[in-house]
Amino acid sequence: MRNKRAFLPGEELATIEEFDVGYGTYSDGDKVRASIVGKAIYDLKARVVKLEPLSKRLLMPSEGDVVLGSVEMVQGPIIHVRIKYINGQRSNKGFIGLALFQNKNEDKELIKVSDIIKAKVISLENGIIHLSIEKDDGVIHTLCSLCGGKVKRIGDRAIKCVKCGNVEVRKLSKYFGNLTEILSS
Ligand SMILES: [Zn+2]
Repeated sequence: MRNKRAFLPGEELATIEEFDVGYGTYSDGDKVRASIVGKAIYDLKARVVKLEPLSKRLLMPSEGDVVLGSVEMVQGPIIHVRIKYINGQRSNKGFIGLALFQNKNEDKELIKVSDIIKAKVISLENGIIHLSIEKDDGVIHTLCSLCGGKVKRIGDRAIKCVKCGNVEVRKLSKYFGNLTEILSS
């Protein structure tokens, strides 16, 4: 259950009998109060109230951040990435980051449209989010480009479709196939 209103630090969210303290809250006698500015989320099952920070909604990528995003377009050597997570936090602002293929000739086919990739923000020069795809970065999720089937990793740079057997080469992240691990690291 979500409460649409934003709470300010010190405001009462619930009584301790109703809900336990969660992220962004504290107990004050028999009351649970907000310790940050945020929207309240009442987990009725776990009987916990927590706050979703408002600042998270304005989260901007900055230099050094790790981002996850889906490849929207590959234009020459430039990969357009729609950023979905910034340092493990969901971002729905629709930021687009640009990454360059390291080796224009060889890497071109290694990252394709609609792949989910991990990358690092290297600069925000000229208002552009510049991304770099470093050693452990690259594709963390993709589907077979022939049939759309699920794929599994077969080695450092290859995936195989479990449906049609098609083998493709990709710049795979070491976290390929493990979104959960990557989001908690
Ligand atoms: Zn396939």
